Amino acid sequence: MFGRALVLNATFEPICVVSSRRALVLVLDDKAELLHATGFEYRAARAAYPEPSVVRLAHYVRVPRQTRVAITRRSVFARDEHRCQYCGGQAENIDHVVPRSRGGTHSWDNVVAACRRCNAQKEDHFLEDSGLVLRHLPRAPRSGVWLLAASGELRTEWAPYVTPSLEHAVGI
Ligand SMILES: [Zn+2]
Repeated sequence: MFGRALVLNATFEPICVVSSRRALVLVLDDKAELLHATGFEYRAARAAYPEPSVVRLAHYVRVPRQTRVAITRRSVFARDEHRCQYCGGQAENIDHVVPRSRGGTHSWDNVVAACRRCNAQKEDHFLEDSGLVLRHLPRAPRSGVWLLAASGELRTEWAPYVTPSLEHAVGI
């Protein structure tokens, strides 16, 4: 029944997802303030505490950007909204824009979600020789996409703190 809580930096930037129990400890230690509760309660001997859904840290913490986002099938599909970046169809594979066999790197600006057909058409060609066109230039995802990839699901209360494109991606 108890789930996870979104932790925001003091600046309201989402930084991680923790267990709601861990989030409650942060609140009780005055390290974070409770912004949204789930409606459930933790019951202790003499008190009941609302289960946190979103908390905000009392003090700003520095978080390294991009290094935290692992390139996996799941995270690439989340960034590209499960759409083939060449034709817009349902994505089934990960494609390297510059093929690995031609020196392409396994990096956020060189991987895209692709359907089986486009992936097969691309093979180990350079983009300009493949007859395919990229709909968007691939880039490292913003934090919201990382959160979705890491947590698997997104609570409704988290939506205002993550990116608009992500709200679209998960249909909330
Ligand atoms: Zn395609």
